[in-house]
Amino acid sequence: MYNNQESHAMFAQQGVNLQGANAPPASMFGDVPGYEGMGGGYLPPPIPAYPPPAPQPAPTQPEWNIPSITEDTAREAFLLYVSSHCCYRKAPAVDGVITNMDAFNTYRYRLETFTESRSTEWDHEEYNGQPVDAYTQPAPGPWDIKVQAPALFQDHTEDIKVPYTSSVKDCHTCVGMGRSPCTECSGAGNKVCWVCNGSGIRGADDQCGHCNGRGRENCSHCHGHGSRECESCNGKRQLLVYIKLKVTWANNIEDFIVEQSSGLKVENLSKVSGKELFRDAQYMVYPVMGFPDPAVGQAAERLVRDHQTKYSESARILQQRQTIELIPITKVTYKWSGSMHTYFVYGNEFQVNADDYPATCCCTVM
Ligand SMILES: [Zn+2]
Ligand SMILES: [Zn+2]
Ligand SMILES: [Zn+2]
Repeated sequence: MYNNQESHAMFAQQGVNLQGANAPPASMFGDVPGYEGMGGGYLPPPIPAYPPPAPQPAPTQPEWNIPSITEDTAREAFLLYVSSHCCYRKAPAVDGVITNMDAFNTYRYRLETFTESRSTEWDHEEYNGQPVDAYTQPAPGPWDIKVQAPALFQDHTEDIKVPYTSSVKDCHTCVGMGRSPCTECSGAGNKVCWVCNGSGIRGADDQCGHCNGRGRENCSHCHGHGSRECESCNGKRQLLVYIKLKVTWANNIEDFIVEQSSGLKVENLSKVSGKELFRDAQYMVYPVMGFPDPAVGQAAERLVRDHQTKYSESARILQQRQTIELIPITKVTYKWSGSMHTYFVYGNEFQVNADDYPATCCCTVM
């Protein structure tokens, strides 16, 4: 049978932290060849045995088709925009007369670098009879472990037990007892009665009905036991200790948007898509060449160089993709109530930006 006083004394004697789960002491972990001095940082991948295939220039692109929008499209998008702002009056959008439509189409170059990185650290879980294999064979190196990659260009992480590193240890939190002292009552099983505050008396000299005059009440957190199932081992008394390999797949995206002089702020463009003019995906891309706008070619060269240097240091590049989109931007000038105003329609989604909308408050008489 379980005895409160005795177990409490034992906990105290062994100096177990009353705060419950604490980090395992370093002495709990053995030395695993190839895993000395694990710091949790990313591990540089080994140099490949065979040189990777050289990047191939992508085929040159056919015609560059510049889309343009009609007056009707511009007006419809504008009306939709105005009705999505509950305070905007519709009059300028309905009655305004379009006097000019100018195209300020621009290009977005996007480079995506899909990487895999790996790090290792000691971890533990409750022991339920899992296979124990530490030191039965040399542990494979972190980059030698076969892991199935997810779909390309999708972020994902996976935790894997490194083979031949699992061993069983007594739980460090409960020193193998399966229970830890209750933190609510410090292991006593009872605490000061909250109704009489420990006096056992209520009012003049009535006995406290809540604690029957004892002045203390049973701890509800541990049901009077003074201890609770250990949270580190879930009462199993033992832990499986192993080296955890954390594999992280990340898609690193960087954009370059060619400057345009329409007056529309470039931040607006990150929320819209454009017409894709060019796409090239391979193990490592070669910067796009011969594009009519030289700013795109320069950005491609810089980003490809940056990514290939930056991401091959601490990760393995699995695939790169470069795209060029044409983002349509139309600046619409219209006349309403005797003065000229402008708005922008941009992106495949016909997003509208109208910072100078002349009737932004329905309560003002204009
Ligand atoms: Zn435990
Ligand atoms: Zn009481
Ligand atoms: Zn308690």
